[in-house]
Amino acid sequence: MVKMFIESLKNLTTKPVTIGYPHTPSPSPKDYRGTIYYQEDLCIFCDLCEDVCPPGAILFEVTNFEENIREYSYNPYLCIYCHACVDVCPKADEGCLVQAETRLKPLGREETLPKDIKLGYFMDRVTTPKHLDSQWDEFEDRCEESREGHDEFKAEKKRKKKEEMAAKKKLEAEVKAKEDAALENDVSKSENNPEEKVDETAKDKPKE
Ligand code: SF4
Ligand code: SF4
Repeated sequence: MVKMFIESLKNLTTKPVTIGYPHTPSPSPKDYRGTIYYQEDLCIFCDLCEDVCPPGAILFEVTNFEENIREYSYNPYLCIYCHACVDVCPKADEGCLVQAETRLKPLGREETLPKDIKLGYFMDRVTTPKHLDSQWDEFEDRCEESREGHDEFKAEKKRKKKEEMAAKKKLEAEVKAKEDAALENDVSKSENNPEEKVDETAKDKPKE
């Protein structure tokens, strides 16, 4: 009883061991890796980060087939903060993909998603956390379609180029055949008419 009384007195003078989460943010665990940041101007669009990401938290959408322009998107609420994308990025050393020790507000407890930090095309456009999951699913399908569309565009471009090359070769072959035929015609004409030959040699003789 006395022990309990002393313990209660101690607790009155010391800080509580619990925190008022979610109103007070929970402390970051030791070695917490943080959110992924991306710099488009350093990216070579190799897609390695997208391929390696276990939960599929990085997506690239092809927004311009002709120019092969892709938009990077990252979903920090899907990310498991494994660092695999940074490890695989050939431009990570230059700062293309960086995992920085920042924390986002817990999803669903804020009315809007954080807008003060840029996390990529998708996160810049989502406004309500409520729709984040369904919009990400839709976005994933859109990215997939854009990839397929781009592959089809490339295949079509390749096919057209092949056709153009074949047409060019055919035209060149036809022109050459015509030239050969004309040359052959001239030779046979001069062989069949030796007088012309004689006359021609006579033409070359100097007049006395
Ligand atoms: S840290 Fe891991 S889960 Fe997060 S985006 Fe990179 S690869 Fe994906
Ligand atoms: S791995 Fe790096 S360079 Fe390659 S697409 Fe991702 S961010 Fe860009």
